[in-house]
Amino acid sequence: MPSPTLITPASVKKRLNELGLRSKLRARPRVQGRILAPAGAFRRLPRAAGLFLPFYHDVLPEYAPDLRRHLAAFRRRGPLVSWDDALKILAGDHEPDGPVFCLSFDDAHLSWRDVVVPMLSELRIPAMFFVTTGLIGRPGNLSWDDCRAIAAAGFDFGSHSVTHRRLTDQGDDDALREFADSKRELESELQREIRDFAAPYGSDVDFGEREIAYAEETGYRSFASTLRPAMYPGDSPLAINRQGLHPAWPLWAVRTRVHD
Ligand SMILES: [Zn+2]
Repeated sequence: MPSPTLITPASVKKRLNELGLRSKLRARPRVQGRILAPAGAFRRLPRAAGLFLPFYHDVLPEYAPDLRRHLAAFRRRGPLVSWDDALKILAGDHEPDGPVFCLSFDDAHLSWRDVVVPMLSELRIPAMFFVTTGLIGRPGNLSWDDCRAIAAAGFDFGSHSVTHRRLTDQGDDDALREFADSKRELESELQREIRDFAAPYGSDVDFGEREIAYAEETGYRSFASTLRPAMYPGDSPLAINRQGLHPAWPLWAVRTRVHD
């Protein structure tokens, strides 16, 4: 008798990759959100104490009301804090008595300037912007002047590498430059110290011990991935988990990523 094919999250992921479905779905976030949503029936937004770090990329104007809904849902559960305050929680400076959220955004999207920053300023929500320095000035991306204006509005900046190439695909010298050169350029353009790094792609095949060592060597205090589990006091700032979301997703889809 043939053994039954085991359906696991990994096997589903592999099959979707083979079909090219994952990238097709990413290009159609509303559809992706509707497909994810049923799995959210078995999850709830966090109620227990813990640190959650949801992050986004581009937020097109059509999705602004959706992002606002996500933020309101988080805020009903607990405070949204700055990256600094999130690190203080990990350091054990204060023990959260419920869920705490810390927002970040990756790459260098123009919509940060036009959609995200105005909304977060109005709602008084802090955020970290992880910039891929090689994207600055390219079509559809921010200029350094835009970044300086966002920094002046009180938001935080970190590095998201120079080229956005997968770090683990690169030789030692090239990989090290992704950390050092992006830091140097961000610091010279923004005139502030850059101490936080988010790995491109950020799953467990996209970084390893070498990358975390390079982050430390080049003067970063935190290293963020896209691994999803909640974080707690005592966890390392060099292994920060974040939950990747798309603003187009319904809240049920959000619950598949950010949950107890
Ligand atoms: Zn990225």
